Amino acid sequence: MSGFLPYGRQTIEDDDIAAVTEALRGDFLTTGPTVEAFETAFAAKVGAQHAIAVSNGTATLHLAMMSLGVGEGDVCIAPSVTFLATANCARYVGAEAVFADVDPDSGLMTPDTLARALSRVGDKRVKAVLPVHLRGDVCDLPALKAMASAAGAVLVEDAPHALGSIGTFGGVEHPVGDGAYSSFASFSFHPVKTLATGEGGMLTTNDAELAARARLLRSHGMVRPAGGDPWWYEMPELGFNYRIPDILCALGLSQLAKLDRFVARRRALTALYAERLAERCPRVRLAQSPAHSNPALHLLTVLIDFEAEGLSRRTVVDSLKSQGIGTQVHYIPVHRQPYYVNRQGLADLPGADAWYKRCLTLPLFPAMADGDVERVVDALAAILG
Ligand SMILES: *Cc1c(COP(=O)(O)O)cnc(C)c1O
Repeated sequence: MSGFLPYGRQTIEDDDIAAVTEALRGDFLTTGPTVEAFETAFAAKVGAQHAIAVSNGTATLHLAMMSLGVGEGDVCIAPSVTFLATANCARYVGAEAVFADVDPDSGLMTPDTLARALSRVGDKRVKAVLPVHLRGDVCDLPALKAMASAAGAVLVEDAPHALGSIGTFGGVEHPVGDGAYSSFASFSFHPVKTLATGEGGMLTTNDAELAARARLLRSHGMVRPAGGDPWWYEMPELGFNYRIPDILCALGLSQLAKLDRFVARRRALTALYAERLAERCPRVRLAQSPAHSNPALHLLTVLIDFEAEGLSRRTVVDSLKSQGIGTQVHYIPVHRQPYYVNRQGLADLPGADAWYKRCLTLPLFPAMADGDVERVVDALAAILG
């Protein structure tokens, strides 16, 4: 691919466009059969019993919190290194977000960082722990689940980076989203994620009751009681309009069929990055991947000791940009956002700060050519000297 290389982007092919066109010619633009078809195919792909398609990944998290009955006086634990939405969903339902530190080399919540977060909760009730499979690397789900259970909480996996990732636990391979350790897993189809629908998200669960609640709350909390008049509906509790249209689910279905190919290409590009970086930029390290994780590699995040290099991150970012290479920083630790500092003061999370100081995400998406990786590594090697 020539021209500007963004850090991530969608891969839309002619058959994806044809699938959307067909949906546009159909009877249902929304609440039609393509939504269910996408849910069924997605559930089968990740090995979950239920999948609920939703308008975006943030809405999936909000629905998960509501379905689990998280509310005022409760606490949810989220890692500080994540997108804002992981913590914000606790606030949407009136609960407090407590931030867990992360391992400074993987960026992940670990049993150790969760233990320290639990010790800071005080006498409030922890309802949910939200591990984030950062970059696609799978968190230690059995250990986190055991600790959450002991505290009376459940796991909700925030998994937009990890569609196609596999965790191997006790010798068994678990696709992320199979619900073996969590009450819900949440996915997003924002264009930089593994599959794109523009905006879109999916919740998976193996709990039929939770699935039914999420479906109900996705559409205003409205029910049509059996035997009622044909126009009759009732709203026993407050829900939202978090529906996703058939038009987007047609795109999602078409994209889902390509997931294995997309992930294979991400893995091949990452292997090439690892090889070239080791040769040309030996001081630049890839983020560490735990032994149990076989990631789908959503992000190519490297760690650079900018101080030791005598360069600011801004200099590196600007220089790469001037050569047509996009980068991003994943993420600014959420515990440092003014909203949370104003609510709770500033927690001491040295792992998150150490990760933030060094992280830089380089371009990675399936349509990249091998030559694009060479171009990025050449540019980085020249800057770092
Ligand atoms: C993208 C993302 C979200 C939010 O998804 P949207 O579809 O953009 O609302 C939440 N958490 C993480 C970790 C994400 O990467």
